[in-house]
Amino acid sequence: MVNWEKNLEIGVKSIDQQHQMLIKALEDIYDACSKGEGLTQIRETAKFLEWYVVKHFSEEEEIQRKINYPGYAAHAKLHKKYIEEVNRLTQDLKKQEVTTQDISSVVQYLNRMIREHINRHDRALAHYIRNNEMVVEEIEIEARELDPLTGLLSRKEFRSLLENELVKSCRKELVYVVMKIDGFDEVNRTYGYTIGEEVLIYVSGILVEYNNERTLIGRNHQDEFVMCIREADKDKIEHMLEDIAEKIYAGFKRRGSIIPLALKMGIVEIAEGSKCQKCIKQQGLIALSVAETFRGSNRVCFKEEMHEQILRKSEIINMLQPYSLEKYLYVVYQPIFDLKNNKVKGCEALLRMKDDYGNMISPGEFIPLAEKNNLIIDVGDYCMREVFRQVKQFLQAGINLEYISINLSIEQFKLEGLAKRIEKMAQVVSVDLKHIYFELTESIMIENFDHIKTVVSQLKDLGCRILLDDFGSGYSALSYLAHVDTNIIKIDKSLLEGIGTNKQVYIVLENIIKLIKAMNKNIVVEGVEKKEELDILRQLDAETIQGYYISKPLECDSVIELIKKLN
Ligand code: C2E
Ligand code: CA
Ligand code: CA
Repeated sequence: MVNWEKNLEIGVKSIDQQHQMLIKALEDIYDACSKGEGLTQIRETAKFLEWYVVKHFSEEEEIQRKINYPGYAAHAKLHKKYIEEVNRLTQDLKKQEVTTQDISSVVQYLNRMIREHINRHDRALAHYIRNNEMVVEEIEIEARELDPLTGLLSRKEFRSLLENELVKSCRKELVYVVMKIDGFDEVNRTYGYTIGEEVLIYVSGILVEYNNERTLIGRNHQDEFVMCIREADKDKIEHMLEDIAEKIYAGFKRRGSIIPLALKMGIVEIAEGSKCQKCIKQQGLIALSVAETFRGSNRVCFKEEMHEQILRKSEIINMLQPYSLEKYLYVVYQPIFDLKNNKVKGCEALLRMKDDYGNMISPGEFIPLAEKNNLIIDVGDYCMREVFRQVKQFLQAGINLEYISINLSIEQFKLEGLAKRIEKMAQVVSVDLKHIYFELTESIMIENFDHIKTVVSQLKDLGCRILLDDFGSGYSALSYLAHVDTNIIKIDKSLLEGIGTNKQVYIVLENIIKLIKAMNKNIVVEGVEKKEELDILRQLDAETIQGYYISKPLECDSVIELIKKLN
């Protein structure tokens, strides 16, 4: 804020304090929204606004009169407009139930008032009083077009201000950021559009904190926010974006519960990129889509080679369409080996993808894409159908394994009627589900424990069983071990790293194995690659292992041949 208090008398200070209250009112609304109390807060704020308009304007009029301020006529007109507006607003609020629309109109009103008064009018006024002459600034009173919901710059306004920046600034110091709320559709679906809009207002409130003369902040549509920052120091920008991300990561608090939020950002350093606004925006969206595809990368800076990545991504998505699955996907099996009687006990089914040129695409790449693009249900169904069909091939070859396990992803679990679906598919090929284990990762448990428990028990009713996958890979919460109805725990390969050389690693593994055994559950250790690892695991009395040391995942025919040899 301008430091003009000390230069002036006649009550301006109290106007300044009123401004602080105005800003506070706006902050309170954002804050209340974050606690799900936006609606109550708004009535209070409307009362305050009524008071403010009368008090501020009468005091200011007094100043105007005393110093004979030449811009007074224009300013009085603005006052009149405000008084009309706030009256209409309070009438509306009295008449009906307060809605999100009302919150957003108050937010917008406050925003405009703060902008016009503090930034333009009052600065001009202060300047005038100080120098006792008219300044150009005063004439500049212009209202920027704002987004009706959040009070940020509208799409159109942002575009024209960005254009100005591109013309006048040295591009080296301009950074463009496009942001989206991860899982916003899910918020709308689960909590409804009203809460969705409160989330948008809340997120805008956090973004507004970073508003200053070097930044532009706007909302394009839905949950897409844009920012342009004039700053040569890249560390500063990184710091600021980190800060924003962290605040949003704290989640939207609502009546005692928290809706988790995360902001994905695509960043364009304009010096590197193209000069045209359209290209900059496109680059932003490309970087954003990279950020959205990969878990764990919330901020991605645009690079030229991303064009290729996007192309590859869309090719993979094409290959994952329901009608192409048969052409590009197939299932391989990796033996699970019993150390006690030196026999293959079961197999894990793993999907493989091969493109038109015979290039392999790793499941680490195509599974997340299938999940993100609502294709995983069909992909999962395809995998199950293939396995059910091939289970019969195993049996016909005279191989009677204890189980074949299939990986399930969280999206499959969320789907209503998963168990029914599986039952039907098994019926079609008349396969007995007692041969099937489903592998669940711990991260699935974290998402919605009660729902998971229900689905798990439905699956057990069908005769299939559950295996807890990737144990120890980072999400480990030992409590799940006790609460999930599972009799096999698969220990992640990361726990084997350094087992031969690091005593601490050995102790961790030793005790995890003891713990699981004490709970009467079976163990599979995965990712066993070397003989020395196998020897240690024998020492530790781990019962079953899986890994390249025994065999890589193989196609059905080859794995049948291998099992025949080994058993
Ligand atoms: P996962 O379920 O943890 O699968 C184990 C991964 O470890 C497999 O990778 C397997 O090939 C690999 N692996 C096995 N033995 C060794 C070893 O000795 N050393 C090393 N370094 N790696 C070993 P893959 O096949 O690339 O699968 C990666 C992930 O993709 C799987 O992790 C699983 O989460 C997912 N996935 C694969 N198929 C499916 C599927 O049909 N459905 C779903 N939802 N996910 C799948
Ligand atoms: Ca697995
Ligand atoms: Ca695993």
